[in-house]
Amino acid sequence: MKKVVIIGVISSVILFYILTLKINITVESNDVKVFDNYNENVSSCLEDILGFCILKLPVNIEGNVDTNIIGNYKIKYESKILFKNKMIEKEIKVYDDEPPVITVDKEVIESCPNKNGDVSYKAVDNYDNDITDKVTKEVINNKYILKVSDSSNNETVLEIPIEYKDDEKPTIKLNGSSIVYLKVGEKYDESGYTATDNCLGDITNRVKISGIVDSNKEGKYTITYSVVDDLNNKIETTRTVYVYNKNPDVPIGDKVIYLTFDDGPSNYTNNLLDILKEYNVKATFFVTSNGSDSSIKRAYQEGHSIGIHSYSHNYNEIYKSEEAFFNDIDKVNNRIKRITGEYSHILRFAGGSSNTVSRFNKGIMTRLSKEVELRGYKYFDWNVSAADTATKDSSKIANNVIKSLKKGNNIVLQHDTNYGSVQAVEEIIKYGLSHGYVFASLNVTSPTVHHAINN
Ligand SMILES: [Zn+2]
Repeated sequence: MKKVVIIGVISSVILFYILTLKINITVESNDVKVFDNYNENVSSCLEDILGFCILKLPVNIEGNVDTNIIGNYKIKYESKILFKNKMIEKEIKVYDDEPPVITVDKEVIESCPNKNGDVSYKAVDNYDNDITDKVTKEVINNKYILKVSDSSNNETVLEIPIEYKDDEKPTIKLNGSSIVYLKVGEKYDESGYTATDNCLGDITNRVKISGIVDSNKEGKYTITYSVVDDLNNKIETTRTVYVYNKNPDVPIGDKVIYLTFDDGPSNYTNNLLDILKEYNVKATFFVTSNGSDSSIKRAYQEGHSIGIHSYSHNYNEIYKSEEAFFNDIDKVNNRIKRITGEYSHILRFAGGSSNTVSRFNKGIMTRLSKEVELRGYKYFDWNVSAADTATKDSSKIANNVIKSLKKGNNIVLQHDTNYGSVQAVEEIIKYGLSHGYVFASLNVTSPTVHHAINN
């Protein structure tokens, strides 16, 4: 009986012990940062009433954590043994705590005082990638403040200081030419200007003009245009106005320009004569068989010199022999005589006395240069070339002449068969008259220029 009781007590204690066993699941898995590795850390024990783990149990896990996507993941953990069963749930967060990164093209913004300049930027987030379009930009206290938040509300603020400065000068652009030629008595009209500043834009209305032109008095006048911006950057530019008289009918001084035109006349000669007339400039025409008699006649009647060049201008023909040469120039001179009533005594060799095209006849130029003088001709080469056989650009031609002018006698070679060369004449005359030159035509008493003979 006693034995039975003892067995009963022991059985009850064992039963009680068994009944109080419980499953304990411990989850130590942590929230995880997006893109990091997630480690499941769970254990399960069958514990007795005193908390002793008497048996480790397997855990069945349901649900998974995608660390590539931010969110809350519910995971179920379950352990079973015999009639005992335990299930717990835990929420695992995949989170992002990394703020976006803003990059800018400059650390300091230099800006005009009346502006804020600008900055270009890019915002990249570890999770949202390019979020440049979410950036806000504002100017506070001389700084650009760039702000951006990612989808997890991580915010980045970037401050870029603005340095206000302007050390660039404005510019003034003159309308029309910076060199103006006026005949005495002609009114000076300001042809205008514009001024622009890097910061202020159009500042034409700030331009100050000084200088006066007395167009009744010959001379050189300077008009000065100046403008200043807000930070005292100043620019000044000038226009030069030459007031000149017509070519004076005065004795030849020490600055003389002899304009000479070869190979004509041509269709352009009348136009040229108009220009020469307007300025009272006398020139010299070394003529050929070309063009109309009336052009030669008009040139002669208007006081220009008519000289001999060549009838055929065919080098192989005219430099074949002395006889051929003189036959050729006689033909031109007969033309001149027929039109003007008198023979010419001035001459320019076709190709100039220094030509080498005649070398097929050795020494012909040496002989001719002497022979023409024996026969009463005076020949003229040139010491200023318009180089107008190479171009038709009148401003280039004018410039070729102008840059070669010097004190003394300037015998200028041009061709009135080149329209561009004819158009260059006005500029050459204006320059000459306003720089103290006198224009004259050549005659047998004029000082001459001879090239070195090359054949
Ligand atoms: Zn010629």
